[in-house]
Amino acid sequence: MDNNILKRKKPSFAFIFFIVMFVALLFSMFITNKNTVATISYSDFLTFLENDNVKEIVIIDEKIINAKIIANGGVITPVTLDIPYADAELMKLLREKKVAIFGKTTKDGFLSVIINLLPMIMMVFVFFMLMRQNSVTNERGMQFGRSRAKLYDKNSKNISFNDVAGQVEAKRELEEIVDFLKNKNKYLDLGAKIPKGVLLVGNPGTGKTLLARAVAGEADVPFFHMSGSDFMEMFVGVGASRVRDLFSQARTAAPAIVFIDEIDAIGRSRGSGLGGGHDEREQTLNQLLVEMDGFESTSGIIILAATNRPDVLDKALLRPGRFDRQVHVVMPDVKERTEILKVHAKKIKMDEKVDLEKFARATPGMSGADLSSLINEAALFAARKDKNIVGDEEFEFARDKILMGVARESMVLPEKEREMTAVHEAGHTLMYYHLKNVSPLHKVSVIPRGRALGVTIGLPKEDSYSHTKEYLKDQLIILHGGYAAEKVIYNDTTTGTQNDIQRATEIARNMVCQWGMSDLGPVSFGQDDEPIFMGKEIARYKDYSEKTAEEIDFEIKKIIKFAQSKAEEILRKNIEQLKSLAKELLEKETMDDEEIRELLKIVPVSETVEVV
Ligand code: ADP
Ligand code: MG
Ligand code: ZN
Repeated sequence: MDNNILKRKKPSFAFIFFIVMFVALLFSMFITNKNTVATISYSDFLTFLENDNVKEIVIIDEKIINAKIIANGGVITPVTLDIPYADAELMKLLREKKVAIFGKTTKDGFLSVIINLLPMIMMVFVFFMLMRQNSVTNERGMQFGRSRAKLYDKNSKNISFNDVAGQVEAKRELEEIVDFLKNKNKYLDLGAKIPKGVLLVGNPGTGKTLLARAVAGEADVPFFHMSGSDFMEMFVGVGASRVRDLFSQARTAAPAIVFIDEIDAIGRSRGSGLGGGHDEREQTLNQLLVEMDGFESTSGIIILAATNRPDVLDKALLRPGRFDRQVHVVMPDVKERTEILKVHAKKIKMDEKVDLEKFARATPGMSGADLSSLINEAALFAARKDKNIVGDEEFEFARDKILMGVARESMVLPEKEREMTAVHEAGHTLMYYHLKNVSPLHKVSVIPRGRALGVTIGLPKEDSYSHTKEYLKDQLIILHGGYAAEKVIYNDTTTGTQNDIQRATEIARNMVCQWGMSDLGPVSFGQDDEPIFMGKEIARYKDYSEKTAEEIDFEIKKIIKFAQSKAEEILRKNIEQLKSLAKELLEKETMDDEEIRELLKIVPVSETVEVV
């Protein structure tokens, strides 16, 4: 597809600069060529003259003599010399010896002045250019300014809405945009106002970029694609000039779509961020606003932008006449995941027996991007095994890799550490079979993956958007299962519990502070627990008193204590199960639900409702 991108490129300034330098260098070498002629002293010259060994001379500007002398052995050799003083005797002697005398004045003074001044002129020129761009001398300083918007050839194999699985709502709203682009006049005749900007909002990997390209494909118009971070360079003013250029390119190509991906990179609230704001970003954003206001909605340009952080965008961007429409691009549910898998499976050679629906069910929480890479991983794996068709086994492998990370088979743990890891994971695992409000277990493994020595993974049956207090409590108990198992078996704990404890504490804090699930009641304390970027969240404040803070801590501790003792209680009661599971795990390395049930002689989950 890349060869369908039309590159609009002008020779960069740096290129021209180097050509000029090169030519100048060649030129000056040519001019100063005379240096290759031997220089002799005036007295030597006079000796040659007296011995009748000078054939002819050229006197240049009355200062230099280029002479042809007859050197030893009768070879005629050109030499050059400076005349040290006005020697009246010289002329007499030359005449006497019948030397042919020529004179020459270098009236090419202009050229030599230019050549002498060339380096200076160059430097002034470069300096001027850099000043104009308001920047420092830098290799990149030579080629900025021009927007690097990628224009996809509209005749190329287009992406259409058919390539986007699911996203019914988003597609319906965007179909309207396609219609605007195709039948502009229909709307204008009725006096309807065509929207200028549409903001695509959704989590990473949900298909925002894909949708934007599909809109261009459906409408069959050029697609100018630029990412918010492309505008951000180290030079002040570059972003703004890129915006200007992007829009002028789009205007000549109208009707067209301008797509600004990751707009939050430039569109964050102005005046926020550390150090009192960011000049470059503000200038870029201002220029974008100016451009958006500058063209008529009748011009046939529609601007799409994508973000996963609409909350941090500058309010000015969302005002009427700018991005006043929002389209939500959502995470896929089971049915949509099946469709996405099907779309991408078409691109590979897949065994017909593979049940994509099963894999859709087994991948809750995965985005479209995750699913497309799952298919690709499966194909890669099949290729590595020299298979000519992708089957069930490869899909299993790919899913586990994405869910649990890559197995680090080369990492050999000491026996003792492997044993402790098995006990730890067995502790987590047993919780799945002794708690009521849990999802089924997917797999438990003691093969080191990434930074984890082992993993236990549950598999939600359906997508869940909210959780009950009971569910969360059981999650906390599962998280404490590993710690409790180490304590029960070894009466000691390892550092492997760090991540578990951290996650448990986070859930407990949210239960108290956000979800009103403690004795403090349904009150929200403090702001969202979102990661702090350089945006306005920096001004997070504590909206509760010291006393309340103590109460919050107390409630969190209470919840954690409860989960801890519950986990320990379950394990002490079932210590034989714990031991045999850990032993089996050490041998098999990876076990799934079925194998565990067989070992522990537990009936399927639908029949166990007993809570311990
Ligand atoms: P975003 O821009 O929202 O981060 P992308 O559009 O870049 O996501 O999606 C990345 C890739 O994931 C796409 O190129 C496509 O292969 C796949 N993908 C995402 N959503 C879908 C979907 N709904 N249908 C088909 N493929 C999808
Ligand atoms: Mg994207
Ligand atoms: Zn653990």
